[in-house]
Amino acid sequence: MSETSTSHHVTLILGDGIGPEVVNSARTLIDAACPRIIWEEAEAGAEVFKKGVASGVPQATIDSLKRTRLALKGPLETPIGFGEKSANVTLRKLFETFANIRPVRELPGVKTRFSGSGVDFVIVRENVEDLYAGIEHMQTPDVAQCLKLISTKGCDKISRVAFEFARSEGRKSVQCATKANIMKKTEGLLKSTFEKMAPEYPEIEAWHVIIDNCAHQLVKKPEQFDVIVTTNMNGDILSDLGSGLIGGLGFAPSANIGHDIAIFEAVHGSAPKYAGKDSINPCAMILSGVMMLRHIGEFEAATTIENAVLATLEAGIHTRDVESDTPPVGTKAFTQAVLDNFGKKPANYVNRPYKPMIVPPRPTSTVFKTATTRETIGLDVFTEYGGTADVLGPMLEAAAEGTDFKLKMVSNRGTVVYPLTGTGPDVVDQWRCRFYLNTTVEELSLASAEVLLKNIEAKSLRWMHLEKLCRFDGEDSFTKAQGEN
Ligand code: NAP
Repeated sequence: MSETSTSHHVTLILGDGIGPEVVNSARTLIDAACPRIIWEEAEAGAEVFKKGVASGVPQATIDSLKRTRLALKGPLETPIGFGEKSANVTLRKLFETFANIRPVRELPGVKTRFSGSGVDFVIVRENVEDLYAGIEHMQTPDVAQCLKLISTKGCDKISRVAFEFARSEGRKSVQCATKANIMKKTEGLLKSTFEKMAPEYPEIEAWHVIIDNCAHQLVKKPEQFDVIVTTNMNGDILSDLGSGLIGGLGFAPSANIGHDIAIFEAVHGSAPKYAGKDSINPCAMILSGVMMLRHIGEFEAATTIENAVLATLEAGIHTRDVESDTPPVGTKAFTQAVLDNFGKKPANYVNRPYKPMIVPPRPTSTVFKTATTRETIGLDVFTEYGGTADVLGPMLEAAAEGTDFKLKMVSNRGTVVYPLTGTGPDVVDQWRCRFYLNTTVEELSLASAEVLLKNIEAKSLRWMHLEKLCRFDGEDSFTKAQGEN
């Protein structure tokens, strides 16, 4: 269409496998409901990797997104043998789409074992931090490590989006789901940030739930959830669980929201076995398009498409993934049926009172949380050793002699093994050797650490990773090992 002052430019990525079929279905309906969209087709994924672009995302696509700040995107694959990093994660991270919003709502005409239980919640998943920062190392040939990075800023932004999203949809409560009982520093940071922010939204009920119980409750009593805010990996898993409650991945849309950019995509992947077969369910991608239209303020067009999809499903027209007594139709026929149902409304569905969501603005300065007092009290030295704790412990005590440190304890996979506890856990060849400084200092000097490390090396031990043990404003920056006093 030709450009007008009310046009919206959208980058369109067809994606891999079933991507082109579901994206074209969504595009057909969006074009019919909202002629103000100007599409910019761009590439990413398998074919791009095969052309030798290691990130799977060519510069032309990045440039298009920089211009449009808006994308409708099909699923992308990382073909085996090409590139290490997922093109999806690259897009999310390059454009800092820090919030992944995944609605889960029971749909008319889609019978599941949960039908009638009032499933209607939204998962707000942190999208760029956590284990998905992808910082991994083999610490020894035997032991792999993945850093779980969670920041106050990240927790603040995702909690804010959850509360603002709840407001925009007139929802009554927000649940924060974490594993703060075990990972007190990382998962605990989301819990404490969320709890600090909750009083700013007095009309919204806010409560914390431990993530494993959340999974249990979601299956047992899903109607108690409204908006669930959670960390990256937890959100990834919970949202697939959520899609299972309402009929499967074919019905799960999502939005990746950044400060000034948004990428809309189905939760599902490229389902290669169904590619080109005209049998796949396009609803997840169509409903992602509906979310995009609402995001840009095209509420009427969004409701037209959503109502038509729901009326179509309610009339018993469905693709092969829906359990039903009536025969399925193909992707193209389903799309045509939705188009034919423009103007119709489902009989048994109440639309929400949608309002634009306020996205936290991009921070204009680099202001980080600081500590008024800061002390260093020791050093964790991660060491490779192919023996037992009763031999290693005395070697480390000897290594600390004459230095600024003394050995506090040694743990293996998080459990104290020296001084010996008598429980004899199985061990691997990566040991956390915790040394406390004889005297607390503000900042540990390299020279002081070097003496200790040289002594450790002199015992023919390999160290591979150091972590300072600090106290910020009097609070330990680290957690104790299991069994450490
Ligand atoms: P998947 O493509 O989501 O497919 C898993 C299963 O979900 C399918 O076999 C099918 O189940 C069902 N399904 C998915 N989409 C459906 C739809 N539109 N309609 C009906 N059923 C649907 O997951 P995967 O097989 O694990 O991943 C395949 C590739 O996609 C991988 O390369 C992965 O990395 C990539 N991926 C990309 C994204 C993304 O781009 N955002 C997300 C996830 C995965 P049945 O077999 O029971 O019919």
